[in-house]
Amino acid sequence: MTGPRMPDPDVKTLAERARIVDDLRDIVPGEGVVDTTNEMRAFETDGLTAYRQLPLVVVLPETVEQVSRVLKYCHRYGVRVVPRGSGTSLSGGALPLQDAVLLVMSRFNRILEIDYDNRVAVVQPGVTNLGITNAVAGDGFYYAPDPSSQIACSIGGNVAENAGGVHCLKYGLTTNNVLGIEMVLINGDVIRVGGRHLDSAGYDILGLMTGSEGLLGVVTEVTVRILRKPETARAVLIGFPTSEQAGQCVADIIGAGIIPGGMEMMDRLAIKAAEDFVHAGYPLDVEALLIVELDGPAAEVEALIGEVERIAGSNGCVTSRVSESEEERQRFWAGRKAAFPAVGRISPDYYCMDGTIPRKALPQVLAGMRSLSEKYGLAVANVFHAGDGNLHPLILYDANKPGELQSAEDFGNDILRLCVEVGGVLTGEHGVGVEKRDLMPEMFNEEDLNQQIRVKCAFDEKHLLNPGKVFPELHRCAEMGRMHISRGQLPFPDIPRF
Ligand SMILES: Cc1cc2nc3c(=O)[nH]c(=O)nc-3n(C[C@H](O)[C@H](O)[C@H](O)COP(=O)(O)OP(=O)(O)OC[C@H]3O[C@@H](n4cnc5c(N)ncnc54)[C@H](O)[C@@H]3O)c2cc1C
Repeated sequence: MTGPRMPDPDVKTLAERARIVDDLRDIVPGEGVVDTTNEMRAFETDGLTAYRQLPLVVVLPETVEQVSRVLKYCHRYGVRVVPRGSGTSLSGGALPLQDAVLLVMSRFNRILEIDYDNRVAVVQPGVTNLGITNAVAGDGFYYAPDPSSQIACSIGGNVAENAGGVHCLKYGLTTNNVLGIEMVLINGDVIRVGGRHLDSAGYDILGLMTGSEGLLGVVTEVTVRILRKPETARAVLIGFPTSEQAGQCVADIIGAGIIPGGMEMMDRLAIKAAEDFVHAGYPLDVEALLIVELDGPAAEVEALIGEVERIAGSNGCVTSRVSESEEERQRFWAGRKAAFPAVGRISPDYYCMDGTIPRKALPQVLAGMRSLSEKYGLAVANVFHAGDGNLHPLILYDANKPGELQSAEDFGNDILRLCVEVGGVLTGEHGVGVEKRDLMPEMFNEEDLNQQIRVKCAFDEKHLLNPGKVFPELHRCAEMGRMHISRGQLPFPDIPRF
C-alpha cells in the first residue's frame, strides 16, 4: 500500500480470509464474490489513483437482502467493510483496505420507478448520474446535479459524497435533490429515510446521511427530484485579461441578483488544455474564461444575457460570445466538462484539489496559489465552480520523478489550508476521504470532531464501515497537539486508534 497511513489490518480477519470468502459466497452466490488477485486489481484504487490497495475480497451483491446479510455477517465477526459505487471518488473514499470487504454496488443498476406526478425518480444506487437524466429526458425532464463524472459515477456515490456540478449553483447539490433513501446499517437493519415529499418530521437524518462518505450505512435505494428542462438555455463565453477581473465579474453577477444556471471559470492553462482537447471555441489569448449559462423563458434569458454582458464589460472583459444553438451551448460546456482529462494530456499526473472559499476571497487565494506554485516548482491549472466559490486546482506533477508526488500533496495541503484561512472549507463536493482526513483539525477543533465521531459511533460503534476515512488518525492529532489528553487519558478510549 502506498499513501496515507491506514488502520493496521486485523490479523484475525486476515488469518480467516478463506472462511470469510466461503461464507460470503453462501450469501452472494455465482459471480458475486471476487477473490483472486488478478480480478481484484480492477478495484484496488478509485479516482485518487496515487493510492492503491487490494481488498480482502470484493463482493457484488444484487439484492437488499444480500447487502443486509453481508453487513450482518461482517458486524458479527468484526470484519471491516468499504462501500463502493463506480469508484470515481477523487478523495480516496472508496480506497480498499487489506482486511476489509469491498462492497461494490454496481449491480444495483435499475431505475425502479418514474413518478411524474410527484416529479421524482426512484432508482437503485448503482444507476449512473447521467442514467437518471437519460431515463427522463425523452419526457422533457432531467436530474439537476451534474458532476463532470456523470457518465460514470453512481447516484449512491453521489449521495455518499454530496456531489455537485455545474448546475448546482442554481438547483442545489445532491442534498437538495434527494428526497428519500433506503439504507442498510452495519448490523443488517434496513431503514428508510425521507420519501417523495420535501420535508420529514424529526431530525434531518437524510441530511446527515447525504455526504456521510460510506461511514454510516450502505445506500440501497434513492428517490431523487426530477425537474422540467428549462424552456431555453444559453451559455456565454467571457474572456478576461486577469483572473481577478473574472472573479470580480462573478461577484457582481451574483450581487446583481442573477443566479445563472451555471457559472464556471477556467484559467489560461486549463483553457488551453481543454481547447486543444475538444475544440470548444475558447479564446486562447485571455488569462481567465467565464462560462455563464442563463436558463428559463426565452425573453428572460435574453434580458439576463444583456445584463451579464453589461457587467462583464464593466469588469474589463475582452471577449464575449453567446451560444446561438443548442449544439454550440453543448460545445461550450464540453470543454469545461472535459477539463480534467484534458489536463491529463499535458502532464503525466495531476492532483485535483477541491476547496471552497467565500467568493470575495478569490483574488487573494489565486495570488496565494501562484506563490505556492513557485515555492513547490509545480504548475497548477485552475477550474472553478466560480458561482459557488468551489475551486478545483489541478496540480501538475510526474509521479516518476522522485519527490514530486510528495511535493504535489504538500502543495495541495497548503492550498486547502489557505481556503480555511480565508473562511472557506476543506471540500466543496469531492469529500474528505483519505485525501483530506489529516487536515480535518485545520478546520474543526477537538470538540467539533468528537461530536462528529459520536454520530459515527451511534451508527457504527465498532467502526467497521469505511474506517480510516474522514476522521484523522487520532494519535496523530495528539502529536499535532490538537487533542486534549487529560491526566494521560485519551478521550473516547473505545475508539480504535491507528
Ligand atoms: C473526471 C472526474 C470528474 C469529477 N467531477 C466531479 C464533479 O464535478 N463534482 C463532484 O461532486 N464530483 C466529481 N468527481 C468525483 C466523483 O465522481 C464523485 O465523488 C462521485 O459522487 C463518486 O461516485 P462513485 O459512484 O464513483 O462513488 P465511489 O468513488 O465508488 O465512492 C465514493 C464514496 O461513496 C461511498 N459510497 C459509494 N456508494 C455507496 C453506497 N451505495 N452507499 C454508501 N456509501 C457509498 C464510498 O464508500 C466512498 O466513500 C469527479 C471524478 C472524476 C474522476
